[in-house]
Amino acid sequence: MRDTPEAWESRRRRMLTQDLQGRDIEDPRVLKVLGELPREEFVPRLERPAAYADRALRLGRGQTISQPYVVAFMTQALQVEEGMRVLEIGTGSGYQTAVLALLGAEVFSMEVEEDLSLVAEQTLDRLGLGERVTLRVDDGGLGWPEEAPFPRIIVTAASPRPPPALLDQLAPGGRMVLPVGEREGGQTLCLVEKPLVPRPGEAAVSLTPLLKVMFVPLRGKAGYV
Ligand code: SAH
Repeated sequence: MRDTPEAWESRRRRMLTQDLQGRDIEDPRVLKVLGELPREEFVPRLERPAAYADRALRLGRGQTISQPYVVAFMTQALQVEEGMRVLEIGTGSGYQTAVLALLGAEVFSMEVEEDLSLVAEQTLDRLGLGERVTLRVDDGGLGWPEEAPFPRIIVTAASPRPPPALLDQLAPGGRMVLPVGEREGGQTLCLVEKPLVPRPGEAAVSLTPLLKVMFVPLRGKAGYV
């Protein structure tokens, strides 16, 4: 199949029906955004033919762009509302960033690899999403204290436990979705919820396991030693 706009469109449709709706992605807003966003724009040339494949793709520098299903699953679990401020750790290609921006979020996204952040910035600008996104090259494990608190936080690199700085920067009533577990061999995608009003004698946050996943490790202070 040639890389015509129609060919990309048909691959995107197949991803939507087979890999997302065919599993448990039901949120109509998430399906709409993933059904419209050109994933091929975020994928390096060598991986482009596989842009809509049901797997993670290489981004260079040992990093990956997550499998479409995992992006959809995390976004659905995050429950982003229009106008919400969202902190994202691990900009990577900017694909997840774009999904959040298209859902109407004001996205603050951090990445340690400057090259990746620069490419993501160009892609987001080219697609007209630059205005809704602020990028920063820094250790996301420490969060973005100047902009905190955030009602939503999403982390797309694995850490041994939820980074304490991110727990601090999560707003009361907020949700954070992140992979937690071992560096090698997979992790568990978890939902962290912070109650609106802390109850005496109860933990400050609750943690719900959602899905087995395999992410690249978070580097820096909150990563693996
Ligand atoms: N969400 C991305 C995929 C990210 S892969 C996408 O849709 O393409 C994980 C990313 O986290 C990598 O780009 C990696 O460089 C970045 N990363 C790793 N440790 C980090 C840290 N401490 N702070 C910010 N980004 C980090």
